[in-house]
Amino acid sequence: MAEIRVFPLSCAVQNYSWGKVGLESEVAKLLSSGDPLVQIEPDRPYAELWMGAHPRGDAIIRDNRIPQKTLGQWIADNPACLGTKVKDTFQGQLPFLFKVLSVDTALSIQAHPNKELAAKLHAQFPEHYPDANHKPEMAIALTPFEGLCGFRPVEEIVSFLQNVPELRALIGEVAAEQLERSGSDDPRGVSAALRVCFTRLMKSEKKFFVDQLNMLVKRISQEEEGKDTSGSNGELLLRLHSQYPGDIGCFTIYFLNLVKLEPGEAMFLGANEPHAYLRGDCVECMACSDNTVRAGLTPKFIDVLTLCEMLNYTPAPSSSKIFPAVQSQLDPNVYVYDPPVPDFAIMRIEIPASIKLYLISAIDSASILLVIQGTAVGTSTAAASEMSLCRGSVLFISANESISLHLSSPDGMLLFRACCLL
Ligand SMILES: [Zn+2]
Repeated sequence: MAEIRVFPLSCAVQNYSWGKVGLESEVAKLLSSGDPLVQIEPDRPYAELWMGAHPRGDAIIRDNRIPQKTLGQWIADNPACLGTKVKDTFQGQLPFLFKVLSVDTALSIQAHPNKELAAKLHAQFPEHYPDANHKPEMAIALTPFEGLCGFRPVEEIVSFLQNVPELRALIGEVAAEQLERSGSDDPRGVSAALRVCFTRLMKSEKKFFVDQLNMLVKRISQEEEGKDTSGSNGELLLRLHSQYPGDIGCFTIYFLNLVKLEPGEAMFLGANEPHAYLRGDCVECMACSDNTVRAGLTPKFIDVLTLCEMLNYTPAPSSSKIFPAVQSQLDPNVYVYDPPVPDFAIMRIEIPASIKLYLISAIDSASILLVIQGTAVGTSTAAASEMSLCRGSVLFISANESISLHLSSPDGMLLFRACCLL
């Protein structure tokens, strides 16, 4: 029998409290569809599905002819599966972690350090920064998805400073006026003024900002029913405050873009980009790391000084935060999201109903394939036997192996494939 180099995986679930509960969660839906034996508990949050070899959620191999139990163990024994370039560049490790996220309540305001800062933070505070690696990440919406990302254009921030006196009180008159006066002909001056304003907000005294936040919430709640509160971003403020009462992170909505993604649209979070996921379901891919600097909307360790110090204070419109997918020239059914980092890329594969036989092509990288929609029987010279694929199925594909899909569903298939394009 030929060596088995393509096989199905059972993936690890993380039940973080911010996840959608029961079968409202895309994570839970994919789990129960991919494996009918999985019991979904109706009141339990199903926040993340981890498709990879991370030690805290190493995928289980679902092929009992393979002696190793987990993907991490198998890769350690078969590093050639990564592909030569990936193996050499990333020291024999799978460089990415592929995930599905189902977000019900907001995740913390955060940013991820670049490689240099990540190494420094890890050396200084290993208990808070458990990895030395950077952590670029990309989210692609599966359902309408909302997040905060990057600093808003200055005109928008200035407009909030004028419409929201509680915010202005926290920033202080001097800093607010400095930002108002900063001209678009002087981008360094704008960034400097923005840094001062944001840092003043994040470092304000707890009692002071809780009072201002309560006043703001009361004022918006009392404003006439049906009245437009967009000048103070009222709807979002009340929602975040109900999730994280008295949290300074609620005020960050006045500085950061609200980005709304439709299914298939993506957001890339490079180093030092402030962000927070607010709600919706997405697939996410990231470099294998756990290096996150947080500063609000979280009960976890927060490090305001480091965050304010490291951020990229370049204002840009919300629309500029949507990361484009490029249709493959080799295969019009494939759209590639290729971020400006070497660690990972994602392909969205949309197989139309008219195609009954489709080839998942060989690439020079190990990859992980997730079925979002449709059914097929998969065959590969590197698989032990036929694999029946349906919504929620996850496959590991070694470098330079291909799979033929014999489609059995009437309306085509939707797949996501994480890989490393060096
Ligand atoms: Zn993040």
